[in-house]
Amino acid sequence: MRVPVAAANWKMNKTVGEALHFLELFLDGWEERSEAEVIIAAPFTALLPMRHTLGKRNIGLAGQNIFWEKEGAFTGEVSPDMLKDVGCTHVIVGHSERRRYFGETDETVNKKVAAALQGGLLPIMCIGETLEQRDAGKTLEIVESQMEKGLKGLNGEEIKGIIIAYEPVWAIGTGRNATPEQAQEVHAHIRELLAKTWGKELSAQTRVLYGGSVSPDNTLELMREVDIDGALVGGASLTPDSFKEIVFSAIKAKEV
Ligand code: PEP
Repeated sequence: MRVPVAAANWKMNKTVGEALHFLELFLDGWEERSEAEVIIAAPFTALLPMRHTLGKRNIGLAGQNIFWEKEGAFTGEVSPDMLKDVGCTHVIVGHSERRRYFGETDETVNKKVAAALQGGLLPIMCIGETLEQRDAGKTLEIVESQMEKGLKGLNGEEIKGIIIAYEPVWAIGTGRNATPEQAQEVHAHIRELLAKTWGKELSAQTRVLYGGSVSPDNTLELMREVDIDGALVGGASLTPDSFKEIVFSAIKAKEV
């Protein structure tokens, strides 16, 4: 049984004060839940104060990007050790906005995934097709290529615990989510690929999240799909109530 994940991606939103205010509201009445894993990917500046506020609570923190070198003359970059140092458990790698605006490629994603794993962080590796690619019938081919290149050279033992986020580019921030059927088709393909390349056991254990206009209104139906193990949430994770609703819907969807 895979524990579902609700991961917030705040992108370039929230000052330290705003992040802590979110936590104050989110944690009000919050009970530690073992039926779901909650992760918040916050801006670098807010991570340390958030860790202090969270204390030992079982809520993961993630960076939204990472560089593959350990240290040195790489102005503006942040290393795996630095993210660990401020209490991160995870890091988002290869988000489509980084691919689009910051020149990230499958090759740099691969270096970042490897560096994160080596530095003791679990990557949330994002993959997904553009609308043109979907319309051209290339969705599965694109996702397959991003998976193979992004995880190149890594064996099953090394990628244990990694999270894959299937995020169709056309669904991100558009209010137009993939239908449960569309998402399930791709998730099933990702799971087959994992099994084929890294073994059935790893495939059965790996959480594959859906991302793209997830909201409290559509979480339940998406999460009911057998191969959808949670959500990576942008806009709807910015308000505590809506993110909490998404967490509870993910739990409800997986109740047997
Ligand atoms: C995202 O950026 O990862 C995302 C899924 O955004 P949104 O939920 O706003 O579509």
